[in-house]
Amino acid sequence: AEKMEVSPSQVITKLIGLGVMANLNQPIDINSAVIVGKEFGFNVESMKESEEKMDEERLDFEDSPEDLQWRPPVVTVMGHVDHGKTSLLDVIRKTHVTKQEAGGITQHIGASTVTINKKKIVFLDTPGHEAFTAMRARGAQITDIAVLVVAADDGVMPQTIEAINHAKAAGIPIIVAINKIDKPSANIERIKQELVEQGLVPEDWGGDTICVPVSALKKKGINDLLEMILLVAEMQELKANPDRKAVGAIIEGELDKGKGPLATVLVQKGTLKVGDVVVAGSAYGRVRAMFDDVGKRVKKATPSIPVVILGLSEVPEAGEHLYVVDDEKKARLYSEKKKDKFREIQLNANQKVSLDDLFEKIQMGEVKELNVVIKADVKGSIEAVKQSLTKLSVDEVRLNVIHDGVGGITDSDVMLASASNAILIGFNVRPTLSAIDLAKREKVDLRTYRVIYDAIEDIKSAINGMLEPTI
Ligand code: GDP
Repeated sequence: AEKMEVSPSQVITKLIGLGVMANLNQPIDINSAVIVGKEFGFNVESMKESEEKMDEERLDFEDSPEDLQWRPPVVTVMGHVDHGKTSLLDVIRKTHVTKQEAGGITQHIGASTVTINKKKIVFLDTPGHEAFTAMRARGAQITDIAVLVVAADDGVMPQTIEAINHAKAAGIPIIVAINKIDKPSANIERIKQELVEQGLVPEDWGGDTICVPVSALKKKGINDLLEMILLVAEMQELKANPDRKAVGAIIEGELDKGKGPLATVLVQKGTLKVGDVVVAGSAYGRVRAMFDDVGKRVKKATPSIPVVILGLSEVPEAGEHLYVVDDEKKARLYSEKKKDKFREIQLNANQKVSLDDLFEKIQMGEVKELNVVIKADVKGSIEAVKQSLTKLSVDEVRLNVIHDGVGGITDSDVMLASASNAILIGFNVRPTLSAIDLAKREKVDLRTYRVIYDAIEDIKSAINGMLEPTI
């Protein structure tokens, strides 16, 4: 009905005329579709089998191990406000990025490529765990390593802990940059002690967390930090096959008045070339031109390398996957499919875990772990809840507290819950209006309680299938 621009009830009426009792959104056989199409003046054709099967899996096939080659790590800088994230990124860019070329574009691309010891490292330009988790919630896990900036004169602060938990929830390694060591009040040993309290034991204390003392202001320790990033990257064995059709993730998109839709793509597999036909969500097109992070025109981009591309039909959303396909016909078809799929996902309210259908999902074997984010007014409540929750873990479902913190429920908490499919509970704290909105949009089960007992009872009942439905 939508494609023919008639109302669904008109189509249903015609179908009933044919003896097909169809509801809205019900599949019908091809013969009925052809007849109904004719009635409205359209030719209905059956999609070819091959096109029907064209799905993400076929575009994003697994590579065989012998085709894999080293790729640069993609790094996000995180940490508490004012600890020096921006300063650190700036100094890394100033000292290790080649100068902007004349005649290129001056677009902000959202990522920088740094070279050290002839190897590349890619830094995402938007620091902070919020941006990181927002991308993850949209399905793009592009960061390989988190650099956690902790000011040596200030120590581990609430957002430091948040950043640690966001990185842990994503399962990526953390390298700590102990910044501002130029300050007289800097105390590196104290910082290390505080890191231990968060489960990050420094290497020189027998643990496996790499800590690098730096000063963004005095440009000290920057090379050490970059070398450590390469070391961790080598241990991770970051590899991708450069000889295949490219798969990537959109990190930024914008509409340029002169050039049309622009998108920054981080290539994850394969090599993206000028002239390739790509699809990213509902956007598609032939890549007309590509620019690297310093605005230089380039012809191709290999794994981990960020580029701005021109030639898309519309501005894609950040976090969308990008695929190279055979031709524009397929691209269009695929983008249409993506639109439908997106709608389906939006319609499906039960995508995320919630206490209301937890029992059912456990029974069906869909849920084996329940991730929980806890916010409370006092530290004591958090500890009490964590202990009770651990006791609730049963064979069927394990409870993981992936993040906790003192204070109100923020957008960042909601995004973490969304990205990690967690429920979000608060004790004697309120969500901000924007967090309530976001939770609705992200379909995150957000609950607030005054008494710990009530929360534990709710979760217990949910696991046992005895939860009273909320009205
Ligand atoms: P962000 O909020 O984490 O991005 O922090 P900024 O990079 O904006 O830095 C916050 C403040 O700390 C600024 O005034 C910086 O000049 C200062 N700062 C950053 N790095 C250093 C450093 O290594 N030493 C000193 N003394 N100050 C620094």
